Amino acid sequence: MLIKGGTVVTAEGTLEADVVVEGEKIAALIARGAATIGSAYETIDATDMYVIPGGIDAHTHMEMPFGGTFSVDTFETGTKAAAWGGTTTIIDFAVQAKGTSLLAALDKWHEKADGNCAIDYGFHMIVSDVNDGTLKEMDACIAAGISSFKMFMAYPGVFYSTDGEILRAMQQASRTGATIMMHAENGIAIDELVAQAVAAGRTDPVQHGLTRPPELEGEATSRAITLAKVADCPLYIVHLSASHALTAVAAARDAGQNVFAETCPQYLYLSLDDLARPDFEGAKFVASPPLRTPDHAAALWRGLRTNDLAVVSTDHCPFCFKEQKERGRGHVSKIPNGIPGVEHRMDLLHQGVVAGEITLERWVETCSTTPARMFGLYPRKGVIAPGADADIVIYDPVATQTISVATHHMNVDYSAYEGMPITGKVAMTISRGQVVVADGEFTGSAGHGAFLARDLNQYLV
Ligand SMILES: [Zn+2]
Repeated sequence: MLIKGGTVVTAEGTLEADVVVEGEKIAALIARGAATIGSAYETIDATDMYVIPGGIDAHTHMEMPFGGTFSVDTFETGTKAAAWGGTTTIIDFAVQAKGTSLLAALDKWHEKADGNCAIDYGFHMIVSDVNDGTLKEMDACIAAGISSFKMFMAYPGVFYSTDGEILRAMQQASRTGATIMMHAENGIAIDELVAQAVAAGRTDPVQHGLTRPPELEGEATSRAITLAKVADCPLYIVHLSASHALTAVAAARDAGQNVFAETCPQYLYLSLDDLARPDFEGAKFVASPPLRTPDHAAALWRGLRTNDLAVVSTDHCPFCFKEQKERGRGHVSKIPNGIPGVEHRMDLLHQGVVAGEITLERWVETCSTTPARMFGLYPRKGVIAPGADADIVIYDPVATQTISVATHHMNVDYSAYEGMPITGKVAMTISRGQVVVADGEFTGSAGHGAFLARDLNQYLV
């Protein structure tokens, strides 16, 4: 395959070059017009288009159990939607339920995903039950290609771990170089605020935001950073939403600690006002951490520019408004937590380029190259270079579109970005040399996607 006439965009810069794909790999980048290439190659015209490495969404929850229901995208529907939006790799979270083993959870997630994904995929492991057996199993997980472990300072009684448990897991991770990923919110204090709100009869969706103040994300983030410092363990803060947390991350990074953070498009574009929409509409925007006031979004864009926020992931966790979100009418704490987004991350961050918030190179870096390095996939993924997997997106920077449930491909009955105009659109998505989306048609197949055994974080100092 010869991708001709496009502008190759990488984390380092742009390049007028043609890209040669042989089989599943990128074979060469050749200067425009420098070489004639055999007619055996299928030519793809990318004139006036960007040619970028496929997006890597390092935070998704397909078919995830939550409060007696499941997130509604299967690995098949979710990875197809991802491909539509220019994402060619997802890293999903296998979930250890209390009282079960990590390896059993991993088997279960393989069962759900294997043979069903349209694009490549890997797993992180959610550790919710720390004990001697679990700690031993962390090493077996690394051998099985799972090099990152997520823990929770929120959700007491479900995923929550005490500071002592977190410290033990961090000490174990420190021995191997594995990364601990942290959901950093003070869940003990939050549960008190929720109970007080419910007792006072305040049960609208906006209470979800008001009972999870940004100070409690900042406090938990600082505490996680301190525990990681004591254990000498790499730490990655997931879905950072509050400027208080960003300040803590920036200070730790300035001090040379292995601390990294991601944010998500919903924290850049949506706000507490959306949670306050009338007629229970706010439930569509219930996720944790909650949406914040707009001053936080401004700080997050700045963090993306300074690299204190290194990655943009979606935390894609779709629950339908009807029947799923609606379980929480009159019971704010029963609204399933999650916002759909796997399909629109590349578009929403390209919109940040259009608006002048980030550069073109930074778009590619935060959405593809850095997640590849952070989670041990580079240089197989995240780059347009000889030898890399031919995961390539041809992106039309001037096409316009409007995000809507009427046109999206995620298996969910609403869009959090309904009606939002976007400049830029995926023209073609290629996964390991196979065209999976082109000309407004899905041409891939469930089962094309392969499991990715990942190495350790490649940024450790
Ligand atoms: Zn999540």
